[in-house]
Parts: sequence; C-alpha cells; structure tokens
Amino acid sequence: MDALSCALLPGFCSLCGSPLPHLSSAPICAVCWTEFPALDGPACARCGDTLSAPSLDTAAPFCRACRLAPPPFVRAVAFGLYQDRMKAAIHGLKYDRLHPAARGLGRMLAQAIAQLAGEAPAEMLVVPVPLHRAKHAERGFNQARSLAVEALSVLRKSHPDWKLTLASSTLMRLRPTESQAGLTTRQRRLNVRGAFTVSDHAAVTMKHVLLVDDIFTTGATARSAALTLQRAGAASVWVATLARARRMYETRYDSRTMQREDNEALSSHALASTLQGAVRSSSHDQPSF
Ligand SMILES: [Zn+2]
Ligand SMILES: [Zn+2]
Repeated sequence: MDALSCALLPGFCSLCGSPLPHLSSAPICAVCWTEFPALDGPACARCGDTLSAPSLDTAAPFCRACRLAPPPFVRAVAFGLYQDRMKAAIHGLKYDRLHPAARGLGRMLAQAIAQLAGEAPAEMLVVPVPLHRAKHAERGFNQARSLAVEALSVLRKSHPDWKLTLASSTLMRLRPTESQAGLTTRQRRLNVRGAFTVSDHAAVTMKHVLLVDDIFTTGATARSAALTLQRAGAASVWVATLARARRMYETRYDSRTMQREDNEALSSHALASTLQGAVRSSSHDQPSF
C-alpha cells in the first residue's frame, strides 16, 4: 500500500464504524468482509431473481418477467443482494471514497462469474457496462471495469482454462442517461433504450460476451446492452453483476397466493391476459422488465 493512501484513509470501518486494528488499503473491517451475504435459495434460471416460492414447473424455473418477456441474454448471475453492507460498499466504490475496495468486491464478482463455469462458453469477451464519457471524466473511472479487472485476475488463477478476455472499449454509451435511481421499470427502459452502441462490429461478431456491471436492478440496462451486442452479431450474451436488487414492483408470492392465481387463471385466463396486456402496452421493440 502506498504511503499516501495510509495517510488519507480513516482508522474506522466505513461500513460499520468499528475501529480498524490495522491500516488497510480498503477501509472495511474483517467482520464486514465476511458479512456480505451471498444469494441463496431458489432463483430464476434466466435472470437470477429470487423466486420466493418454488416454481410449479421445475423443468423451467423462470420468474414471471422472464416467462412473459425472455431477456436477450442467456443467464444473469450476481454475488449478493443490493442491500445493507453491499449497498454501502458499492456506493462508496462509485463515489471513490472506497475505490481500493474494488479488489475485495472484485473477488465477490469472480465468485458470481464462477457460477457460469462449465455452462458458459470456454472463450468469452468480458465487456464492462460503460459510462458515458462525460460521467467517466467526472468520476475518473468506470466501477464496472475496475470490478471486471479484479475479478479476471482471480479467475485466471481459479479457472486457468477459461479464456476470458477484457474488452472494455467494445461497448460505448451514446448519451448520458439520467440516473436510474427512483425511476419506474418503464422509465428505466425508456431511459436506456438506444443508449449503447458497439464501436467495432467485427470485434463481437460470433463472439460470446460476458457483460459485467456493479448492480442489476430491473435488468433494463442489461437488456438494452445485451440487445445492442446481439444486434452487432454477438453469438451469445451472459451477464454477471456484483449485486442485484430485489424487484420492488413485483408482488411477493407465497404458495397459497400462487395457487389462487393459478386457479383464477385457469378458470378465466384473466390473470394471463392482464399480464400480457400490460407487457404489450408497455413494450414496443423492447421488453419492459
Ligand atoms: Zn465493519
Ligand atoms: Zn427471471
């Protein structure tokens, strides 16, 4: 660690406030590092969203959103939920205060990516979701790229045969998009529609792409970026993020609610047509989730 970081960093954990016994390049205490909960429990096989009730169709354990409007990526994985310490650490990383934490967070991203080992292609381009150049200039770095760099250095050791190549200038953000925070799903979709372009189509044609970002919220950004890569000729797109938010707009189902809805749907198709109508009315060329 360089002398400058020692001098500048506080002596307290920036997540829980407890005093740090040693100077550390990332001001997060050892306890906090172990308390980033990994995702577990039943999850959508496509987007990774938590399924709060086991899927009735075990052959296709997909969430409602993915069943109604399949995303343009094969599978999205994440390390943990975007809450508590994870939320604080990502916020700190983005706004630079915790930039040295990229290493520890990158290790977590590597664990998320490792879930795809054996399933995803043996050779992939790793594409961090880009910032617009104005945002990049203001922040000084792209957190998605920092996380990807750290994750790849871990994976090169843990999975030496997996050919993952960083391609951070392949995808570009065409316009500065408003911050996604506080937007509805529909607003997010409109916000990122047409936001990306591929600088050199030849670089992605027939290539398998692993799109990397810090957070997966509604999936609007991942869908838009994946669609752009697909249209540029990518053979397949996969997504890995450090954290994912729980979908706020979806009712959480217990099995009784699900059963009741299934009965209603069977008797009148009311639920299915309402949901399909909602998807139709809110999506033209792109799914709305
Ligand atoms: Zn702590
Ligand atoms: Zn899903």
